[in-house]
Amino acid sequence: MCRCGVCFNEEDALHAPPSRTAKDKGHMERPERTRLMWDGLCKSGLAAQCRRVAVREVTAAEAALCHSAEHWQALLALERAPPALRGAWVGASHAAERGTPVTRRGWAVGGGDMYHNGETARAVRLAAGGTLALTQLVCRGELDSGFAVVRPPGHHACADKMCGFCFLNSAAIAARAAVRSYGEARVLLLDWDVHHGNGTQQIFEDDPSVLYISLHKLAHGFFPGTGEATETGTGAGAGFTINVPWRHPGMGDAEYLVAFDMLVMPVARSFAPTLVVVSAGFDAAKGDLVGGMALSPLGFAAMTSRLKELAGGRVVLVLEGGYKPSAATKAAQACLRVLLNDPSIGCLPTSLAADSSASNVRLARGALHTLSEVIRIQSSFWPVLKGTVADLMKLSSRDGAPRQSGASECTSERASSPRDSVASDFAILELDDAPSFTEIDSIQQKRAKKKKKKKKNPDEEQQEQQQGLD
Ligand SMILES: [Zn+2]
Repeated sequence: MCRCGVCFNEEDALHAPPSRTAKDKGHMERPERTRLMWDGLCKSGLAAQCRRVAVREVTAAEAALCHSAEHWQALLALERAPPALRGAWVGASHAAERGTPVTRRGWAVGGGDMYHNGETARAVRLAAGGTLALTQLVCRGELDSGFAVVRPPGHHACADKMCGFCFLNSAAIAARAAVRSYGEARVLLLDWDVHHGNGTQQIFEDDPSVLYISLHKLAHGFFPGTGEATETGTGAGAGFTINVPWRHPGMGDAEYLVAFDMLVMPVARSFAPTLVVVSAGFDAAKGDLVGGMALSPLGFAAMTSRLKELAGGRVVLVLEGGYKPSAATKAAQACLRVLLNDPSIGCLPTSLAADSSASNVRLARGALHTLSEVIRIQSSFWPVLKGTVADLMKLSSRDGAPRQSGASECTSERASSPRDSVASDFAILELDDAPSFTEIDSIQQKRAKKKKKKKKNPDEEQQEQQQGLD
């Protein structure tokens, strides 16, 4: 029986957009994200198979493992701040950042992506504290693994900067506490959220005890705009930051699993972590328009399964983003099934790189370019990667007819199961003609403008509908 823990805090719903006006109701980071995910985990019976770990508030000393004292005080000040105050603490070291107008005391002016109310600081402390409580039980050996269903997210929170809906970096605090307080030697912090964890990278950039690996979208105008392959860590931490920046949309199971099998797992095995913490955002899930990616639930499960091969299976998932609740919930269920060794998860997709029978492998546009760039750069830090670029190139030069279905560990008998519909998501992608992120952004902007115009001119809208223009 696998001992898996989960934590969820009903009170996080109190941290909500300031008002349900037409403008605010659309804020992506809202209470429904975790409530619907938790409901899904309960209804599927998965939550009942886990030990429910009570959340608690993170202490000032624990937060100080990753954040400045000023940052902590700024968080506490939110309890007394007028609700109308929008913006976030950007700290002394960030005050001079270009394009970030700040007050003398370090608060951003504007900061449109952040909101807070009187309950925000407590929700943040409980999210970080719940994550810590779960991680501590895994480190103590009382649990094998865990999943923290918490919000607000954390991986954009820097040592002294709040941004990207994030206030305290829960996953980072858990990883550092594991090393400094819970007796772990090395932690792998794997971040598969579609956004780069700029806060996590900054916190660990000179720390060789935590290997930070992030797979994310990097495109013009896409938050936070960091996470280049050339950002590899500094000082003693050189080589302990690995960024896989996807520059094209549509990256799915095939691309992520090739990245895992040719880059993430070889490096992780060399690093030999004693604990794995995952910044588990689900905004790279298929259907989540924020990311524009195409990971299926089984893709997330396959990544989790690979990570379980490390550190004796001691894996702690920490929820980050994920803005289509139905897609995020399915992905979360799949990951939890893996942590629970639930046989109903069925066969997981294998990597095309690991499937020697694969022929004419076609990955989404830009995938091989990104991976070869990262592997070339990281080869100087990780000898295990030497020669891997050549292997990667072989993938794209195999001859033969295009594959019609994804590689998988299923037998032919199993392959006829209803899961075929998911396996089809793993089919070889032929996205050479797919629109770029810029093109997608442009389409979305046009739609938004059209909607805005409609609101202003209801008469015109009526006319357009009558004319069948929409
Ligand atoms: Zn995200």
